[in-house]
Amino acid sequence: MSLIPEWYNPNVLQDLGFGDVVRMRKSHPCGGYEWQVVRLGADIGLECLTCGRRILLERRSLKNRMKMIVCQGGDSDSENG
Ligand SMILES: [Zn+2]
Repeated sequence: MSLIPEWYNPNVLQDLGFGDVVRMRKSHPCGGYEWQVVRLGADIGLECLTCGRRILLERRSLKNRMKMIVCQGGDSDSENG
């Protein structure tokens, strides 16, 4: 069998950028669903937009837990005023 699980790919979530906001499938105990990316690396650092708590997740864990990217940070390309 040569089928490689999607989460095994190191490029999983390569579209994710600093400052992006993601929505999770399950809510945080505080009731919030949306998290902002505060760190990019082998692990992804996320800050809860509701209570401010920070967590670290492996890319594949985040891939499994997140539902969608709500908005992309885009500090660099804000030309369209
Ligand atoms: Zn929270």
